[in-house]
Amino acid sequence: MATAQNRKQKSAPGEIDIPQLRRRLLRWYDRNRRDLPWRSDNPDPYAVWLSEMMLQQTQTATVAPYYAAFLQAYPDVFALAAAPRGDVLAMWAGQGYYRRAHNLHDTAKIVAEELDGVFPNTVDGLMKLPGVGRYSAGAIASIAYDVCAPILDGNVKRVLSRVFAIEQSQSDPQTIATLWGISGKIIPRKRCGDFNQAMMDLGATVCTPKVPKCDTCPFKKICIANNRGLTDVIPPARQRRIPTRLDLTALVVEANGYVLLHRRADSGLWAGMWELPNVEANGKSIDDVCEAILPATIRKSLGKLSKSRGVQHQLTHRSVRFKVFRGSCKKVRLPKTFQWARADDTLPLPKAFQKVLSAV
Ligand code: SF4
Repeated sequence: MATAQNRKQKSAPGEIDIPQLRRRLLRWYDRNRRDLPWRSDNPDPYAVWLSEMMLQQTQTATVAPYYAAFLQAYPDVFALAAAPRGDVLAMWAGQGYYRRAHNLHDTAKIVAEELDGVFPNTVDGLMKLPGVGRYSAGAIASIAYDVCAPILDGNVKRVLSRVFAIEQSQSDPQTIATLWGISGKIIPRKRCGDFNQAMMDLGATVCTPKVPKCDTCPFKKICIANNRGLTDVIPPARQRRIPTRLDLTALVVEANGYVLLHRRADSGLWAGMWELPNVEANGKSIDDVCEAILPATIRKSLGKLSKSRGVQHQLTHRSVRFKVFRGSCKKVRLPKTFQWARADDTLPLPKAFQKVLSAV
């Protein structure tokens, strides 16, 4: 098998005919573009921004129903800005990376209240908005306004690395700088949004991580990795981070068909969302757990707790294991950070706790 190390051939952007690369890609895109709900011949910057925020670290298939629900509930930036934060978080629940939902709402307020509802049309202007980095700014500017701004996401990195035979690790800042340089160099002066979306589509459907479909690729004749048999070693495999384990004890406390929820702090994991009362297990007895996380009024009327089936939930960098206890009490008055909720209430509850509730 070829290795990147034993083939010390120089990366050679100069070997590629750039105008030919653009023509090939756009021709391919005209015939093969994916039919995605946020694609339009007449893009609305609000809808483009919304889709790009949702697509950060999330697959298109997962995003599609959330995108449709958001657009229906909040058809423009003014509607989103006017929504209560809790409603936005509740509608986001299940997509993970909840910081993005806070950024989404903060940005909507800025655009509605300070920019007359108009999204900036430059990369610099867009990057001033919460949660919009260089990639998202380039994608929004090019797709919504056809600005010739380059992009570089995971798919584009892979395609460019292979076409231009960039063999170095993609976690190396120098490699990233090189790839941004190439992305800036190859973007055409016209149809910039189409060009960027074509790169995304090619990476997602043809130049896939494991077995790229080089035979059907518009770059098959010009791609250096394909021509040199290096597609299995470019880009080099990433070292995966081992998720840390988090052991939590969670309580499902019920009263007359309601379940007790607690509101999390406004920063950190699951910021501002609701949760079942829980604490890091750390060998605590169940009495210690109750003492640590339940209001005194609940503890006073709480019956005997029974142990339920444990639940596991995987986050990107954490493996969460819940020990679950269940019990009931009177529906007493609660401190501000607690609430009695029914199953059909639309409080933002992270997927991990939805799973615990389903299990009991
Ligand atoms: S020819 Fe193969 S490796 Fe090169 S860009 Fe196309 S699919 Fe990727």
